[in-house]
Amino acid sequence: MTTITAANDVRIAARSRATAKGSLTRSRAIRDRCRECAGDSYRDVTECDVTACPLWRFRLGREVRVAPGSRYTRAKAIRLHCVECMGGQAYLVPQCVSPLCALFGFRNWGTVHDRR
Ligand code: SF4
Ligand code: SF4
Repeated sequence: MTTITAANDVRIAARSRATAKGSLTRSRAIRDRCRECAGDSYRDVTECDVTACPLWRFRLGREVRVAPGSRYTRAKAIRLHCVECMGGQAYLVPQCVSPLCALFGFRNWGTVHDRR
């Protein structure tokens, strides 16, 4: 669930414009999601130690490989995160009712924009 505060109103508006233009990338969506998760603090995103989170390796805008040969895509990371967000029920992800969430447009394997 995305918390709406005065601090992130501007970012949400900018993201909505980017979504409308088709210029929102998965990378930026993940960064936004992490920033919101971390209480609007880039520092806390950088220092996040929840390595089990599917977004963790992409939270800095580039991929952090946790083990050789363990790469996966941002699309998969978002999907896994959304499934977790929905309590492990994958069939509920398409029914998400949080359009202000940074990942909303990519929750179904990125059917809105096919960008990494
Ligand atoms: S990696 Fe996961 S737990 Fe860490 S800031 Fe991002 S969304 Fe939150
Ligand atoms: S888009 Fe994904 S992470 Fe965001 S609220 Fe919906 S299910 Fe959760």
